[in-house]
Amino acid sequence: MKKIQWDEGLSIGDPDLDGEHRQLIALLNRLIDLIDEDPDAEQVHRVLDELELLAAAHSRNEERLSFSASEDFKEEQRREHNDFRAAIIEARGQLRPDDLGGSLIDVTESLVKLLINHIIDQDLDLAALLDEQEAKSHSLAEYLVHRFQKISLVRGLEMLVIISLLPMLIFAGMIMYQSWQGASEAGDVVRLAAFSRRIGNLAHELQKERGLSAGFLTSDDRAFKTALKLQRKNSNRELAQFKANIEVQKLEGRLGRIGDRAARVVVRMEALEGYRDKVDRRLVTPQESFDRFTGLITELTALTNQIAIHSRRQGGSELFQANAILIQFAEMGGRERAVVSAAFGRGYFTRPEYRQLVSLTSEQDTLARQFRSFLSEPQWLRWREHYSVEAVVAYKRLSDYALELGSGDGKVSVDSFTWFKVATQRINLINTFQQQLISQLQDEMRRKRSLSTAIFMTTVFGGGAMVFLIGFVALQLARSIRLPILSLTEGMRSLTADDKSFRIPFANRKDELGDMVKAYETFRRKLIRADMLTLGEQLGPLAINRHALALKRSAAEGQEYKRLASIDSLTGVINRREFMKRAKMEVARLLRHQGDLTVLLLDVDYFKQVNDTYGHPAGDRVLKFVSQSIVSALREEDILGRIGGEEFAALLPATDQTSAGATAERIRTAIENLRIQVGEDEIKVTISIGISQLVPGENAIEPAMERADRALYRAKDQGRNQVCVLSGIESMAG
Ligand code: GH3
Ligand code: MG
Ligand code: MG
Repeated sequence: MKKIQWDEGLSIGDPDLDGEHRQLIALLNRLIDLIDEDPDAEQVHRVLDELELLAAAHSRNEERLSFSASEDFKEEQRREHNDFRAAIIEARGQLRPDDLGGSLIDVTESLVKLLINHIIDQDLDLAALLDEQEAKSHSLAEYLVHRFQKISLVRGLEMLVIISLLPMLIFAGMIMYQSWQGASEAGDVVRLAAFSRRIGNLAHELQKERGLSAGFLTSDDRAFKTALKLQRKNSNRELAQFKANIEVQKLEGRLGRIGDRAARVVVRMEALEGYRDKVDRRLVTPQESFDRFTGLITELTALTNQIAIHSRRQGGSELFQANAILIQFAEMGGRERAVVSAAFGRGYFTRPEYRQLVSLTSEQDTLARQFRSFLSEPQWLRWREHYSVEAVVAYKRLSDYALELGSGDGKVSVDSFTWFKVATQRINLINTFQQQLISQLQDEMRRKRSLSTAIFMTTVFGGGAMVFLIGFVALQLARSIRLPILSLTEGMRSLTADDKSFRIPFANRKDELGDMVKAYETFRRKLIRADMLTLGEQLGPLAINRHALALKRSAAEGQEYKRLASIDSLTGVINRREFMKRAKMEVARLLRHQGDLTVLLLDVDYFKQVNDTYGHPAGDRVLKFVSQSIVSALREEDILGRIGGEEFAALLPATDQTSAGATAERIRTAIENLRIQVGEDEIKVTISIGISQLVPGENAIEPAMERADRALYRAKDQGRNQVCVLSGIESMAG
């Protein structure tokens, strides 16, 4: 039997376990040596004892190191270890004292198989487990690598994509939120501007009513009464609009604290109705009426101021403030108009009137300066152009005149109505500019809102497209990794199942996976080549043994490939072609040297039944043992060949058919007594043998073989398990 060579491929990386495996193999090799050495039972049992001890210790070590394995693995491991020890114990029983060498072959062969298969099937898995245990006890990085190996590669890639997309999504979300917020704030500002305009309009109407009320209270002119009636309608209409607007703003939750203030203003406005009655019945002084209206207007201007501040916070521009100033400016102008009207109508200024005029003038100067600071250069220029018309010049002249002459008791003689007209024109100018500013403000906010909306849309669609694109590419990438890996796995499984037809279509890839597929392909082709070019099935240890014997015998005859081609791989004896070649050589030698040469044809009886009952592999095993028995019964110089399925031929040089008959009888008995163990069955077979000797003068083997065949036929015919001889003379007679 061939000795076992330690292959580094069997190493599992643990020096102790590997060392024990080597020791076990050394002991088995020791048994193999004993087969050739004609051993005594004592020696064999000693080696088996050693083997048993070592196997027990080794099993314990392996089981100790597999603590983290799955329960299935552990159970399988225990089972295989027990099997091995059981096999050693059984081996002792199987050893036959009469044929120690022969039975040792069987015993050793099964132990070798058990050990090698166990290392390959189980211990190499244990090696992976040990590597893992070691990695766990190392650094964090190794721990992470270990963890990641538990995740599917494709799943890992998907995670990576999501992780890298996340900041982008957050960023896009922020932009979207900002722009959406911006758009809605701009929308709010637009609505606040409209509200502001409403307030301006209401203040304007109240100013007019204040003037007309004063006129009605100081003069008997009936025109005042009519104008006042009309004006009150205007005031009320504007007030209704103002109230409606507040309701809307409040509903949309836009006003906050301003809303409360506005509501208070509304309440005071509504109280105005009763007050107007008193005015009509002249129950109030002109000053009281003036103060009453002025109070309301001041409330309104304060409201616009507050809205301006609130809007600034929401991103409204400085125009809001400018607007609030203009409303105040117009109001101051209105008061100035009233004060000066009264004085001009009377012909002189009272002291309080004059003080009021001075303070109003200085307040207007201050407001004008503030106004300048809230306007951009082009807006300022537009204002200057707007405010430099004739009416303003006329107002200025009269106002200066009033200031100049109004101190003390100086008489003024200006037509009150003229003054009222120019002052009103000026106030109207201020009001129209204020309206323009509001429109401008609304335009600006609308632009801002549409810009924000555009950014929002771009982010939604642009960002969405990008996320989709990246996701798509990543998914394709994952697929392109996954498919070759799946194919490779399937390919390797096919190879394991002896199916070498699975070709993987990614060999042209330029990446690492392409290399992997190429390596697989090389391996697959190597297997196919090996299959096509080597001789049939794998040789078992026993066959190799016979093989070696045959090789030794024919060593002188030539090269190894020739020898390989001449040997029957199942039984290790020569095949039909080689047998005929040798026979020819023997006949030639016979012709030269004279002597005897006898041919035996041997055919196993009812062999078909063996196959049918126990299966083809069992039949093979029987053939091996039968051929081995025949070889044992022959001499060194005899030639045995397998010339058919279960048919053998033997050439016995220097032997006549009588002594050949004795040999044949030995063979027949040996086979009859042969017990072949197959699993739990014990197979028995018999053999029939036909004999014929070469007749002098014959210079070919064929006639003798033909006679032997007929003899064999006769043996079968007469009941099998017997030897029949047919001599040349007989045959001629027959
Ligand atoms: P008998 O010779 O006594 O007339 O009966 P038999 O059953 O032996 O007859 P036959 O020659 O018809 O059968 C031989 C069988 O041997 C047929 C075939 O299946 C089987 N056989 C041939 N070669 C092999 C082989 O290499 N291995 C195995 N297991 N069986 C083989
Ligand atoms: Mg047969
Ligand atoms: Mg046959």
